[in-house]
Amino acid sequence: MSHRRRSLSLVALAGMLGLTLSTPAGAEPRDVGRDISRDTLAADDGWAAADGGTTGGSTADAAHVLTVRNRSELVRALDGGSDTPKIIRIAGTIDANTGDDGEKLDCDDYATGGYELKKYLAAHDPRSWGSARPSGPQEEARQASAAKQAERIELAVGSHTTIVGLKGAVLKGASLQLRGSDHVIIRNLELRDAYDCFPVWQPNTGGLGDWKTAYDNIWLRGSTHVWIDHVTISDQGHPDEDEPTYFGRNHLRHDGLLDITNASDLVTVSWSRFADHDKGLLIGNGDTATGDRGRLRVTLHHNQFENVVQRAPRVRFGQVHLYNNRYVVPADAHDYRYALGISTESAVYAENNAFTTPGHVEAADLVKSWNGTALHQTGTLFNGYPVDLLAIHNAYNSGSERDLTADVGWTPTLHQKIDSAVRADREVARGAGAGRLR
Ligand code: CA
Repeated sequence: MSHRRRSLSLVALAGMLGLTLSTPAGAEPRDVGRDISRDTLAADDGWAAADGGTTGGSTADAAHVLTVRNRSELVRALDGGSDTPKIIRIAGTIDANTGDDGEKLDCDDYATGGYELKKYLAAHDPRSWGSARPSGPQEEARQASAAKQAERIELAVGSHTTIVGLKGAVLKGASLQLRGSDHVIIRNLELRDAYDCFPVWQPNTGGLGDWKTAYDNIWLRGSTHVWIDHVTISDQGHPDEDEPTYFGRNHLRHDGLLDITNASDLVTVSWSRFADHDKGLLIGNGDTATGDRGRLRVTLHHNQFENVVQRAPRVRFGQVHLYNNRYVVPADAHDYRYALGISTESAVYAENNAFTTPGHVEAADLVKSWNGTALHQTGTLFNGYPVDLLAIHNAYNSGSERDLTADVGWTPTLHQKIDSAVRADREVARGAGAGRLR
């Protein structure tokens, strides 16, 4: 047995025993085999490589390299979103819906002030309530109850933080929130089911009204130099399609898988799996958020979007480089909406992405535009055949959508090797997501 092999098993053993081994000074992460804790982003790997690159918590001292196994340990390690360089290694399954004593919390545990869904529905039925915003005792109780859940599941991630999952790590029910954070790395982690116990009824959304939910699995606000790699994010455990219909609308429980808003900038999302969800990935959350102008620069490459109904991604303002991604729409996806949402002042540069869909989802369904003006796309593969998504969009767009031009005003320079869509489709199927780092 080689020395390197021995180091590997010591680390594995330490992991099993709950010990934390810090990397010896000067040693490369490779010296400990699969330990990726101190990795930094490669110098050419997308927008997060710009302006000095993305280093996360790689400079953490030994006291700030922590392996965590439950919510309390995770909260302690996150240190209230402090800027101290830190490396957090998640072991096993951590459920954010957990009390300080380790007890599992469910929606009833958060409900307060007399909140009951049945009463909330009775109070705000559009047939009697009308179209005013919900208010009164049940809405007040809903807000108080929601605040109790938020206090448990919203976890602030500060600057100079690296979060990595150890083998098989899962973070359930949490919303990781980066607010004004700089240099954050999240890798090799499965995030599941950021379930909102207390959705609010919004009577004026989309003509019919809709249920609005609060939590994204990861939410970047005003955050910069962020690298998200080999994560898997889904609604696993509580698919929205299994939720009942109230007021004629699906009682949604989840918001975005990953939202990037409020002038966040320089983000790379690579080799990740986004699955079984409605609103996938939102870049820019408002047409009037002009503070996002010149920001929201994001690279998405080698990601898989499987059974994502919409927003893969939807973009406002940002320069987004979208290359070598794999899209899979399952045969029974009857609520499918679109993949690429081209909105206000967006500049999406899409190269060599592969789409696989059932017969009822056509190439014309893949792009949707609202106030968007341009989309650059080349090398797109649709069910194995080359297609021009731009020409198809312009030929088939509905009355409310206008033609897009191919000139998005920029050309990406920070990227790694761009594969053919055929090759990317194969490689992403094999290598994207948590537990698939090579
Ligand atoms: Ca959101």
